[in-house]
Amino acid sequence: MRAIRVERLGPPDVMQLQDAPVPSPAPGEVRVRVEAVGINFADALAVAGEYLTRTRVPYTPGMEFAGIVDALGEGVQGVQVGTRVAALGGSGAMAEYATVPAAGLIPVPQTLSGAQAAAFPVSYFTAYHGLKTLGRGEAGEWVLVQAAAGALGTASIQLAKAMGLNVIALASTDEKLEIARTLGADVTILQDDPDRVKKVRDAAGGKGVPLILEVVGGKRFQESLDMAASRGRIIVIGNASREQANLRPVELMKRNLTVTGLWLTSLMNDAPATQEAARALAELVGSGQVVPQVGPTYALDQSVQAFEDLLNRRTTGKVIIEP
Ligand code: NDP
Repeated sequence: MRAIRVERLGPPDVMQLQDAPVPSPAPGEVRVRVEAVGINFADALAVAGEYLTRTRVPYTPGMEFAGIVDALGEGVQGVQVGTRVAALGGSGAMAEYATVPAAGLIPVPQTLSGAQAAAFPVSYFTAYHGLKTLGRGEAGEWVLVQAAAGALGTASIQLAKAMGLNVIALASTDEKLEIARTLGADVTILQDDPDRVKKVRDAAGGKGVPLILEVVGGKRFQESLDMAASRGRIIVIGNASREQANLRPVELMKRNLTVTGLWLTSLMNDAPATQEAARALAELVGSGQVVPQVGPTYALDQSVQAFEDLLNRRTTGKVIIEP
């Protein structure tokens, strides 16, 4: 089969397309014929060696994918060969076939296409935990969504609206803001608008925003503190700027702010939180209230281009690779 291989860490062009043996599922694993891989910002950071965990090379990237179950390892029960599944694993999905522990399978409505299913797990579970599990968002509250046309941003807008929240969306271009409005954002503001802090505070009734999903980091993190309402909750989910942010705890004291980190990988080990999110999301996706946003789609031999487009802010929705 064809698979992407990374032998040394670095920019996207360290990825090479190679021939590799079709993997056999170990006990407890299933093998999936990969239809679509969801490419996350985290994949690009992992290839660069800048992710939260150390990347061991050589390896095949790709943590999120969807496809058709092709073979079952010993002891796997309750999974049917021939059904479409989404999956969340550590790596290995940027290939024609991938194996994953059966526990890593995410049930998806069979009405979703392969690309929609691959666009679902990371962004929607993260958005749910940011808005609900950790963010404790309540209907009628305002939430600020940064990088609003991206994979996580589009998921966050849809879920926030489904939960009855009011959404302020920030993004870098008018085209991206138009996408945010189409998904239901109530107020849209250019990320580089010189008056962005005042405009965001004014939009939320002049008092600042009670809930902020922070994904840019760096010097923008200070702005999030300035945009927050008293007792505001800032959920730190990403650092797309790849710059260090400064946090002075006394600033939190003055306005009783809360800053909470969110990492989906560790939250997935929290069984009750995962089950609760899965239940809520299955209902919303099943009823069509939220629809995974498929972005630009690339072939396996265009993987370098896909990663570069994601890092250079040229994409909206979930970047997809179809092997
Ligand atoms: P996106 O599809 O949102 O793409 C990244 C977006 O970040 C860009 O389109 C861009 O939007 C924005 N951005 C802002 N500043 C920069 C910058 N300096 N360089 C590049 N991009 C920038 O990607 P994802 O949905 O995969 O991820 C979004 C963020 O959420 C990332 O930081 C990611 O690491 C994080 N994340 C974290 C998770 C967790 O478990 N903690 C899980 C999922 C995502 P614009 O041009 O509009 O500013």
